[in-house]
Amino acid sequence: MLIRVLGSSAGGGFPQWNCGCPNCVAVRRGDPRLAARTQDSLAFSANGHNWHLINASPDILKQISDNPPLHPRSPRHSPVRSVILTNGDLDHVLGLFSLRESWPLVLYATPSVRRGLEDRNVICRTLHRFPEQATWRDLELGREVTIEPGLTVEARPARGKLPVHLMGLCTPSPEDNVSLWIRDARTGKTAVYMGATSSAEGVEPEVRGADCLFFDGTFWSSDELVSLQLSKALAEDMAHLPIGGPAGSLAQLSGVHASHKIFTHINNSNPILVDGSPENLAVRAAGWQVAYDGMEVSL
Ligand SMILES: [Zn+2]
Ligand SMILES: [Zn+2]
Repeated sequence: MLIRVLGSSAGGGFPQWNCGCPNCVAVRRGDPRLAARTQDSLAFSANGHNWHLINASPDILKQISDNPPLHPRSPRHSPVRSVILTNGDLDHVLGLFSLRESWPLVLYATPSVRRGLEDRNVICRTLHRFPEQATWRDLELGREVTIEPGLTVEARPARGKLPVHLMGLCTPSPEDNVSLWIRDARTGKTAVYMGATSSAEGVEPEVRGADCLFFDGTFWSSDELVSLQLSKALAEDMAHLPIGGPAGSLAQLSGVHASHKIFTHINNSNPILVDGSPENLAVRAAGWQVAYDGMEVSL
């Protein structure tokens, strides 16, 4: 299985258009310790020909352009076969509307994520210009779905929250935010994606045996946005478990021994983005990698 990180930043990207935090200023200035990043998305493939996306970020066109395996191979063609949505946050779904140019896609989502996107949303009609343009398939929690022969994906509930635009409109459900288990039957390899979660409880035994783990790297500390005067919200208010501190993911997941442990969905404020910062070094010393756009994992 091949995995390519298309985008490794949280919503807003890096630099974020309206942010003057030290990281955003430094990356705009060209500081060599930091690299710009687009919004969260992964592509994976069992054979290098057909590719499946985890989430469709608002940066999808640049991400396809920057990744040659995703380029068309004939006049009207795309190697992108499906998109799997892990929640309905805009940084994970808006890219679907940029993929509307008459190419059949299979869209996998839990019923709650699909409803949150399609109900009362006339723009979704643009994905149904011809019958087979968008084929929705349900992700049922805890059940493997075959996305192509030998390649399966299973969604499991992850502690999260409703997208901001649905708060007060929908009743929260375990289907609102999921992690994904991707299994390649030919190689026996498993990759796990947990890009957004407010809890690491039970994760260590759950991911035992996985070869690759992508985990929520949004914030280093709980009060990161508050201390930089960017927001009044704590990491937990936004349903993200911080990496650092005694109760952070780095400490809680210290027993995970996957050969690839990668923090992704990294907010622009996070000090792990600075190569060589104490936080960046702490993550790497614990055997974790900091995801970057274009990163490749071969399992
Ligand atoms: Zn996000
Ligand atoms: Zn910033």
